[in-house]
Amino acid sequence: MQCRLVTSCRRTSAIDYRGYANPISGRVNLLPRHYQGTQLTTSTFDALQLDPRLLSAIHEAGYHEPTPVQAQAIPALLGGADLMVTSRTGSGKTAAFMLPALHRLATRPLSGRGPRLLVLSPTRELATQITQAANTYGKNLKQIRTVTLLGGTPYPVQNRMLSRPFDILVATPGRLLDQMNSRRVDLSQVEMLVLDEADRMLDMGFIEDVNQIAAATPATRQTLMFSATFDKPIARLAETLLRNPTRIEATSLKAAHENIEQRLHYVDNLAHKNRLLSHLLLDADINQAIIFTATKRDADLLADDLSGQGHAAAALHGDMHQGARNRTLDGLRRGRYRLLVATDVAARGIDVAGISHVINYDLPKVAEDYVHRIGRTGRAGNKGIAISLASSRDYVQLQRIERFTGKTLPVHTVAGLEPKTPIRPAPRPGRTAPASGARHRPGGSSGQPSARRDGRGSWSDARPADRAPARKRMG
Ligand code: AMP
Repeated sequence: MQCRLVTSCRRTSAIDYRGYANPISGRVNLLPRHYQGTQLTTSTFDALQLDPRLLSAIHEAGYHEPTPVQAQAIPALLGGADLMVTSRTGSGKTAAFMLPALHRLATRPLSGRGPRLLVLSPTRELATQITQAANTYGKNLKQIRTVTLLGGTPYPVQNRMLSRPFDILVATPGRLLDQMNSRRVDLSQVEMLVLDEADRMLDMGFIEDVNQIAAATPATRQTLMFSATFDKPIARLAETLLRNPTRIEATSLKAAHENIEQRLHYVDNLAHKNRLLSHLLLDADINQAIIFTATKRDADLLADDLSGQGHAAAALHGDMHQGARNRTLDGLRRGRYRLLVATDVAARGIDVAGISHVINYDLPKVAEDYVHRIGRTGRAGNKGIAISLASSRDYVQLQRIERFTGKTLPVHTVAGLEPKTPIRPAPRPGRTAPASGARHRPGGSSGQPSARRDGRGSWSDARPADRAPARKRMG
């Protein structure tokens, strides 16, 4: 029945979850009483008893069946529970909260000035995607209006949008607080508060803002928190904001990304890194790639250099105006750019099905960001490849990433571009690098002997030139 509907629909970036091998190792505990004993992993959307106008939008979006997190979260939310969801990126978590929220708005219309649903997002890109999801799923609910409040966008436009009644507010915390302080937003009608990527909001220092915003909403609201991790700070925030929450673990972030092949290339120095990057980018299998740099400046410079080499490349980072960011993302979506050179915050939440590769030109400082970065590929049921370029300066960082993911990154080499020196930790001031105790790494797919982090041999990369700007880097 669903297939009939789906065959007539336009192309979307929907994931075909039917092909997933055991995508979820999760469980639901503390279910509200009326859900205990019910079938949790509903295999059709129809069984979720959503408003028919939502169901038809879902079918048109090309979704065959609920993802695991949707199958668990939607019934619990329709039942009124507060939710704490640990869910990986790309798991379909946006629909997991947006569908029940829209159902509520559609079936219990009110004529107040809203908003009735408030979604807080750490980044502008994620907020924009949440708004797009609201528009996609709510396309048949003509009476429902969404307003998006993002930092970096002009106030007059936002003020105009806020002056008319609306139902859904998607916002980044800083700008929302600004607008609350100017008395342009009244949160007294909020029925559902969603904190998306709550861990990231904490990392970015939004905790005070989030608490202040939550305090301006009614205590009777339903509250949902989505987070990649459930560590102590998140648990504390959940304790203050959620009431007796249902906890859903859709899968641990660490176990995710089975469809992404991860590779590690060792580099001797910057020049070697750049030669390797240039070589890797010639791979015709790269449909689109995101290349991560450590700094905004390097993102700009590297994008310039790559454009100079004839690549369709663009930069994306937090110093760009929102309009420029949107245009770049739009260009990526439309295939105008093959390469996006980005920093972590800007790239968080990017959901573009064409991204076949992620390249860590610089390794992330925070191990968890590695998982978020590589999650930009392998979207929409595709396979993805994540390549990390690392020198011995990155040794500690690499160890952290491997500890966090619980996986040893397989070392790959390119014929003619193998690292010349074995890998060992860059000596820290006042310390000597260990002479032994390192591990040998298996060879990569090229079948060539792999580099080692084994403390033997010399290392030539520990020099300040490594932090030189990309323009110099690319020569
Ligand atoms: P999210 O985790 O919310 O960022 O969603 C990731 C991607 O999954 C988006 O491209 C959605 O369009 C897609 N998606 C969400 N739910 C489903 C579903 N039930 N079936 C297929 N694709 C889905």
